[in-house]
Amino acid sequence: MIADNLKEVEERIRKAALAADRDPSDITLIAVSKTKPVPMLMEAYDEGIRVFGENKVQEIMDKYDEMPSDVSWHMIGHLQRNKVKYLIGKVKMIHSVDSLRLAEAIEAEAAKKDVVVPILLEVNVAEEDTKFGLPVNGVLPLVQQISAFPHLSVQGLMTIAPYVADPEENRPVFRQLKKLSVDIKEKNIDNIHMNVLSMGMTGDYEVAIQEGATMVRVGTGIFGARS
Ligand SMILES: *Cc1c(COP(=O)(O)O)cnc(C)c1O
Repeated sequence: MIADNLKEVEERIRKAALAADRDPSDITLIAVSKTKPVPMLMEAYDEGIRVFGENKVQEIMDKYDEMPSDVSWHMIGHLQRNKVKYLIGKVKMIHSVDSLRLAEAIEAEAAKKDVVVPILLEVNVAEEDTKFGLPVNGVLPLVQQISAFPHLSVQGLMTIAPYVADPEENRPVFRQLKKLSVDIKEKNIDNIHMNVLSMGMTGDYEVAIQEGATMVRVGTGIFGARS
Protein backbone atom coordinates (compact mmCIF):
# COMPACT_ATOMS: atom_id res chain seq x y z
CA MET A 1 0.00 0.00 0.00
CA ILE A 2 2.73 2.47 0.94
CA ALA A 3 4.69 1.64 -2.20
CA ASP A 4 1.63 2.32 -4.37
CA ASN A 5 0.81 5.51 -2.51
CA LEU A 6 4.36 6.74 -2.94
CA LYS A 7 4.32 6.05 -6.65
CA GLU A 8 1.13 8.04 -6.97
CA VAL A 9 2.36 10.98 -4.90
CA GLU A 10 5.68 11.09 -6.75
CA GLU A 11 3.90 10.99 -10.09
CA ARG A 12 1.54 13.79 -9.08
CA ILE A 13 4.49 15.88 -7.89
CA ARG A 14 6.22 15.30 -11.21
CA LYS A 15 3.15 16.28 -13.21
CA ALA A 16 2.43 19.38 -11.14
CA ALA A 17 6.05 20.50 -11.52
CA LEU A 18 6.14 19.96 -15.27
CA ALA A 19 2.80 21.71 -15.71
CA ALA A 20 4.28 24.72 -13.90
CA ASP A 21 7.45 24.59 -16.03
CA ARG A 22 9.50 23.47 -13.06
CA ASP A 23 12.08 20.74 -12.68
CA PRO A 24 10.55 17.95 -10.54
CA SER A 25 13.94 17.39 -8.92
CA ASP A 26 13.69 20.87 -7.36
CA ILE A 27 10.89 19.60 -5.14
CA THR A 28 11.67 17.54 -2.07
CA LEU A 29 9.00 15.18 -0.81
CA ILE A 30 8.97 15.02 2.98
CA ALA A 31 7.22 11.85 4.13
CA VAL A 32 5.32 12.93 7.25
CA SER A 33 5.41 9.85 9.45
CA LYS A 34 4.02 11.22 12.74
CA THR A 35 2.08 8.62 14.76
CA LYS A 36 3.12 5.86 12.32
CA PRO A 37 5.22 2.90 13.51
CA VAL A 38 8.78 2.27 12.35
CA PRO A 39 7.89 -0.74 10.13
CA MET A 40 5.72 1.60 8.05
CA LEU A 41 8.55 4.10 7.80
CA MET A 42 10.82 1.27 6.71
CA GLU A 43 8.40 0.41 3.90
CA ALA A 44 8.82 3.95 2.61
CA TYR A 45 12.56 3.74 3.20
CA ASP A 46 12.74 0.60 1.10
CA GLU A 47 11.04 2.52 -1.71
CA GLY A 48 13.84 5.07 -1.58
CA ILE A 49 12.45 7.67 0.83
CA ARG A 50 15.16 9.27 2.96
CA VAL A 51 13.45 12.45 4.14
CA PHE A 52 10.94 12.12 6.98
CA GLY A 53 8.95 14.77 8.83
CA GLU A 54 7.83 14.52 12.45
CA ASN A 55 6.06 16.98 14.72
CA LYS A 56 7.10 15.76 18.19
CA VAL A 57 10.57 15.81 19.70
CA GLN A 58 10.17 12.53 21.57
CA GLU A 59 8.97 10.74 18.46
CA ILE A 60 11.92 11.99 16.41
CA MET A 61 14.31 10.79 19.12
CA ASP A 62 12.75 7.33 19.28
CA LYS A 63 12.61 6.87 15.52
CA TYR A 64 16.07 8.34 15.06
CA ASP A 65 17.51 5.47 17.05
CA GLU A 66 15.54 2.83 15.20
CA MET A 67 15.85 3.98 11.60
CA PRO A 68 18.94 3.79 9.36
CA SER A 69 21.44 6.60 9.81
CA ASP A 70 21.09 7.99 6.28
CA VAL A 71 17.59 9.32 7.04
CA SER A 72 17.15 13.10 7.14
CA TRP A 73 14.75 14.18 9.87
CA HIS A 74 12.74 17.38 9.57
CA MET A 75 11.07 18.88 12.62
CA ILE A 76 7.80 20.32 11.32
CA GLY A 77 5.80 20.72 14.54
CA HIS A 78 5.57 23.35 17.23
CA LEU A 79 8.77 23.35 19.27
CA GLN A 80 9.17 24.23 22.93
CA ARG A 81 12.40 25.93 23.93
CA ASN A 82 13.22 23.41 26.65
CA LYS A 83 13.23 20.58 24.10
CA VAL A 84 15.53 22.20 21.57
CA LYS A 85 18.57 20.52 23.07
CA TYR A 86 17.36 17.06 22.07
CA LEU A 87 17.07 17.98 18.41
CA ILE A 88 20.33 19.71 17.66
CA GLY A 89 22.67 17.36 15.85
CA LYS A 90 19.79 15.05 14.94
CA VAL A 91 17.54 17.03 12.63
CA LYS A 92 18.42 18.31 9.19
CA MET A 93 16.06 21.27 9.41
CA ILE A 94 13.62 22.90 11.82
CA HIS A 95 10.58 24.23 9.94
CA SER A 96 8.74 25.78 12.84
CA VAL A 97 10.71 28.76 14.15
CA ASP A 98 8.21 31.46 14.98
CA SER A 99 9.67 33.62 17.75
CA LEU A 100 12.86 35.35 18.74
CA ARG A 101 12.93 33.41 22.00
CA LEU A 102 12.86 30.08 20.17
CA ALA A 103 15.53 31.28 17.73
CA GLU A 104 17.70 32.30 20.69
CA ALA A 105 17.29 28.89 22.29
CA ILE A 106 18.33 27.13 19.08
CA GLU A 107 21.27 29.52 18.65
CA ALA A 108 22.48 28.81 22.19
CA GLU A 109 22.28 25.04 21.82
CA ALA A 110 23.87 25.09 18.35
CA ALA A 111 26.72 27.23 19.69
CA LYS A 112 27.32 24.71 22.45
CA LYS A 113 27.54 21.90 19.92
CA ASP A 114 29.43 24.06 17.43
CA VAL A 115 27.02 23.45 14.53
CA VAL A 116 24.97 25.65 12.23
CA VAL A 117 21.28 24.74 12.18
CA PRO A 118 19.24 25.26 9.00
CA ILE A 119 15.83 26.66 9.88
CA LEU A 120 12.64 27.91 8.27
CA LEU A 121 10.40 30.58 9.70
CA GLU A 122 6.82 29.43 10.12
CA VAL A 123 4.30 31.96 8.85
CA ASN A 124 0.62 31.93 9.73
CA VAL A 125 -0.30 33.42 6.36
CA ALA A 126 -4.03 32.94 6.79
CA GLU A 127 -3.81 34.36 10.34
CA GLU A 128 -5.83 31.54 11.84
CA ASP A 129 -6.12 31.80 15.64
CA THR A 130 -5.61 28.09 16.04
CA LYS A 131 -2.20 28.03 14.41
CA PHE A 132 1.32 28.80 15.46
CA GLY A 133 3.50 30.91 13.23
CA LEU A 134 4.42 34.53 12.68
CA PRO A 135 2.02 37.03 11.18
CA VAL A 136 3.20 38.09 7.72
CA ASN A 137 4.36 41.48 8.99
CA GLY A 138 6.39 39.84 11.75
CA VAL A 139 8.68 37.92 9.43
CA LEU A 140 11.07 40.63 8.24
CA PRO A 141 11.77 41.99 11.74
CA LEU A 142 12.61 38.47 12.96
CA VAL A 143 14.76 37.77 9.90
CA GLN A 144 16.76 40.92 10.65
CA GLN A 145 17.35 39.83 14.22
CA ILE A 146 18.29 36.24 13.33
CA SER A 147 20.66 37.48 10.65
CA ALA A 148 23.16 38.24 13.41
CA PHE A 149 23.04 34.70 14.86
CA PRO A 150 26.14 32.76 13.74
CA HIS A 151 24.70 29.30 14.43
CA LEU A 152 21.38 29.71 12.60
CA SER A 153 20.95 29.70 8.85
CA VAL A 154 17.54 30.82 7.60
CA GLN A 155 16.83 28.76 4.50
CA GLY A 156 13.31 29.99 3.83
CA LEU A 157 9.71 29.97 4.96
CA MET A 158 7.10 27.39 5.91
CA THR A 159 3.33 27.60 6.24
CA ILE A 160 0.51 25.30 7.23
CA ALA A 161 -2.40 26.33 5.04
CA PRO A 162 -5.99 26.10 6.29
CA TYR A 163 -7.86 22.85 6.03
CA VAL A 164 -10.09 23.36 2.99
CA ALA A 165 -12.34 21.23 0.82
CA ASP A 166 -11.02 22.67 -2.44
CA PRO A 167 -7.22 23.11 -2.64
CA GLU A 168 -7.71 26.09 -4.95
CA GLU A 169 -8.83 28.00 -1.87
CA ASN A 170 -5.25 27.84 -0.59
CA ARG A 171 -3.65 29.19 -3.76
CA PRO A 172 -3.61 32.79 -2.45
CA VAL A 173 -1.98 31.57 0.78
CA PHE A 174 0.84 29.86 -1.12
CA ARG A 175 1.21 32.81 -3.46
CA GLN A 176 1.53 35.19 -0.53
CA LEU A 177 4.24 33.07 1.11
CA LYS A 178 6.18 32.97 -2.16
CA LYS A 179 5.89 36.74 -2.54
CA LEU A 180 7.09 37.28 1.01
CA SER A 181 10.13 35.08 0.38
CA VAL A 182 10.98 36.96 -2.84
CA ASP A 183 10.61 40.32 -1.08
CA ILE A 184 12.98 39.22 1.69
CA LYS A 185 15.46 37.60 -0.69
CA GLU A 186 15.73 40.87 -2.63
CA LYS A 187 16.99 42.59 0.49
CA ASN A 188 20.14 40.43 0.44
CA ILE A 189 20.36 40.14 4.20
CA ASP A 190 23.45 38.34 5.56
CA ASN A 191 22.87 34.74 6.51
CA ILE A 192 19.32 34.73 5.07
CA HIS A 193 18.84 32.53 2.00
CA MET A 194 15.16 32.19 1.11
CA ASN A 195 15.64 29.27 -1.25
CA VAL A 196 13.22 26.93 0.52
CA LEU A 197 9.44 27.15 0.58
CA SER A 198 7.91 24.39 2.69
CA MET A 199 4.23 24.37 1.80
CA GLY A 200 1.59 21.91 0.65
CA MET A 201 0.20 18.82 2.38
CA THR A 202 -1.82 15.83 1.18
CA GLY A 203 -4.84 17.92 0.22
CA ASP A 204 -3.10 20.71 -1.62
CA TYR A 205 0.51 19.91 -2.57
CA GLU A 206 -0.07 20.21 -6.30
CA VAL A 207 -1.36 23.76 -5.95
CA ALA A 208 1.57 24.53 -3.63
CA ILE A 209 4.02 23.25 -6.26
CA GLN A 210 2.39 25.42 -8.91
CA GLU A 211 2.95 28.38 -6.58
CA GLY A 212 6.61 27.61 -5.90
CA ALA A 213 6.89 25.03 -3.10
CA THR A 214 10.33 23.41 -2.89
CA MET A 215 9.34 21.06 -0.06
CA VAL A 216 5.96 19.39 0.26
CA ARG A 217 4.99 17.63 3.49
CA VAL A 218 2.79 14.63 2.75
CA GLY A 219 1.53 12.30 5.48
CA THR A 220 -1.91 10.82 4.85
CA GLY A 221 -1.28 10.50 1.12
CA ILE A 222 1.63 8.14 1.81
CA PHE A 223 0.89 6.39 5.11
CA GLY A 224 -2.92 6.56 5.20
CA ALA A 225 -5.19 8.24 7.72
CA ARG A 226 -3.99 8.84 11.29
CA SER A 227 -6.20 7.68 14.13
C1 LIG B 1 0.71 16.31 9.87
C2 LIG B 1 1.40 17.40 9.12
C3 LIG B 1 1.54 17.36 7.73
C4 LIG B 1 0.99 16.25 6.85
O1 LIG B 1 -0.40 16.33 6.78
P1 LIG B 1 -1.22 15.38 5.78
O2 LIG B 1 -2.48 16.13 5.54
O3 LIG B 1 -1.42 14.08 6.46
O4 LIG B 1 -0.41 15.25 4.52
C5 LIG B 1 2.23 18.39 7.12
N1 LIG B 1 2.75 19.40 7.84
C6 LIG B 1 2.64 19.48 9.17
C7 LIG B 1 3.24 20.62 9.90
C8 LIG B 1 1.96 18.48 9.85
O5 LIG B 1 1.85 18.57 11.20
